[in-house]
Amino acid sequence: MNLNIKDTFNTELPADPVHENTRRQVMQACFSFVTPKTTAKPSMIHASNELAQDLGLTEDDLKSEEFKSIFSGNSVLPGTNPYAMCYGGHQFGNWAGQLGDGRAINLFEVNHNNKQWALQLKGAGETPYSRTADGLAVLRSSIREYLCSEAMYHLGVPTTRALSLALTGDQVLRDVLYNGNPEYEKGAVVCRVAPSFIRFGNFEIFSARQDKKTLKTITDYTIRHFFPHLKEGTKEGYLHFFREVTNNTLDMIIHWQRVGFVHGVMNTDNMSILGLTIDYGPYGWLEGYEEGWTPNTTDRQYKRYRYGNQINIGLWNLYQLANALFPLIEDVKELEDILMEYRNNYSTKYLSMMKSKIGLFNSDEDDAELLGRLEDNLQLTETDMTIFFRNLSSITKDSPTNEDFLAPVMHAFYTLEEVKGDILEKWKQWFTDYKNRLQKESIGDSQRAEKMNTLNPKYVLRNYMAQLAIDAADKGDYSLLDEFFQLLKNPYHEQPSAEKWFAKRPEWARHKVGCSMLSCSS
Ligand code: AMP
Ligand code: MG
Repeated sequence: MNLNIKDTFNTELPADPVHENTRRQVMQACFSFVTPKTTAKPSMIHASNELAQDLGLTEDDLKSEEFKSIFSGNSVLPGTNPYAMCYGGHQFGNWAGQLGDGRAINLFEVNHNNKQWALQLKGAGETPYSRTADGLAVLRSSIREYLCSEAMYHLGVPTTRALSLALTGDQVLRDVLYNGNPEYEKGAVVCRVAPSFIRFGNFEIFSARQDKKTLKTITDYTIRHFFPHLKEGTKEGYLHFFREVTNNTLDMIIHWQRVGFVHGVMNTDNMSILGLTIDYGPYGWLEGYEEGWTPNTTDRQYKRYRYGNQINIGLWNLYQLANALFPLIEDVKELEDILMEYRNNYSTKYLSMMKSKIGLFNSDEDDAELLGRLEDNLQLTETDMTIFFRNLSSITKDSPTNEDFLAPVMHAFYTLEEVKGDILEKWKQWFTDYKNRLQKESIGDSQRAEKMNTLNPKYVLRNYMAQLAIDAADKGDYSLLDEFFQLLKNPYHEQPSAEKWFAKRPEWARHKVGCSMLSCSS
C-alpha cells in the first residue's frame, strides 16, 4: 500500500506520556498512544471503493493481506503511531467527566489530492478511555455504522465515512436488551474516515479541568487545520470559529430533518466540531412521520433525542461548547449573540428546507402555516415519510381535487382505512390549498418534480433493512449488505429493480429489536 501518510497530529498536540492501554484519567494531554488488539482470525467483509480512491488506495490494495491486517487492527503501518483521544461530554443533559475514545483508535492521517483524512478503527480493543467496557464492537452495530455512514454521504448529509468492515474472528459478549441475558456475538472492526474526529467534548474536558493551556492548544490546532481562513490565538478568531461550528451544526441537523434521520444519542461527545454526523449507534430512520419518535430505548422515557427535538438539542449542545470556549473568549454577550443567531437561522433554514421538500421555491406569507398543517396531518395516522414526500412530486398544478386527490400519496398511509371522516377532510383541505399554492410557483410541474426528487430520497436505510442485512451477515451471507451498499449510492435515482425497498416497513418489523427499538449495546 502506498499511502501519503501525514502524521502531524501527534507532533502538535500534547500526548499522554504513558504508552500503554491501561484505563485511567488522562491529564493535560489530548491523546494517548495505544496499540490495536490482535484478533483471532481477521477477515475483510466489505470495503468502499469510492472512498478508497479518495484516499489514494487501489482496488488491489483493498484485497491485499496488508489491508486486512492493518484495518482489522492486526498490524500497524510502519512509521505511524496510533492513538486514542481524550474527551469529556454531557450525556443526556448531565456532565459525565472523562469519556474519550474507549474503542476508537486513530491509525494515521493521509493526504491525497490536497485533502487530509484521519483513519480510525472502531472496535479494535481497549484504550485508557475504555472505563469499564471492553473496547470492542459487534458485527451488528458495525454493519449499521458502515452502511449508514456511506448512505448518509450519498444523501448529501455531512458525515464521517466508512472505508472497511472486518470480522475479528473473536466473540464479544453483549446484553442487547440490558435484561441480564448476555450472549456472544461476532466481533467486528470498522475503519472510519473523516478530516477530523474532534468533538465538542474534546474542548469541554479541558475547560472542566480548568486546563486553559491545553484548551488553547487544541482550539488553535483545530482552527489551524480545519478552519485555516480564521485567525488562531485571538478573541475574534475564536468567536468566528464558534460561529462557524454553530452554522455547520445547524446545517447538519437540518439535513437530518430533511431525510428523516434520528441520531438517537446527541450527547456532546457525539457532536463533531466539523458538523459531521458521527457515532452511528442507536440511530433510526423515520418510517411513520412522528416528531416524538426516537429509536433509542435508553431514551424511551423522556425522548430527549426525538426527531422533533434535534434542532433544539443542537442548540443546547452549542451552549455547552460556548461554556467550554469561554475561558479563551471571556465575553458572554458575543457568545450569546451567536447562539441567538442559531435560533433565528433555525426557523428560516428549517422553513426553507421544508418548503423545498414540497416543491415551493417562491415565497408566500402563508407557507409556514401550510407546512405546519402538513406536519400535523402527517401525524393524524401513521404516514410513511419517505414515500409521502417522494410521491408528492407527482402532483401537478391541475391534479384532481375530487375524491381521487389522495391517489398520488396513497401508498404512504400504513392503514388507508383510517383516513376517513375528519382526517380525510383535513387532508382534502390541505391538498386543495397546496394545489392553489402551486399555481403561484414560477416553474413548471416537471421541473419542480425534478428538483423535489433531488431533495426527497427514494431509498433510505430503513431500520428493518439494516436488520435484514445483519441477520444474513450473521449467517455468513453478505449479499444483502452489498445490495444495500450499492443501492444507497444513488438514493435519489429511480432504480426499478430495487422497487421493493421503496415500501412501507413490514408489520413483522414494527416491534422487533433492532428495527424499531435499539439499545446502546454495541
Ligand atoms: P457512545 O455514546 O456510544 O458514543 O459512547 C460513549 C462513551 O463510551 C465513549 O467514550 C465511547 O468510547 C465509550 N464506549 C462505548 N462502547 C464502548 C466499548 N465497548 N468499550 C469501550 N468504550 C466504549
Ligand atoms: Mg460516542
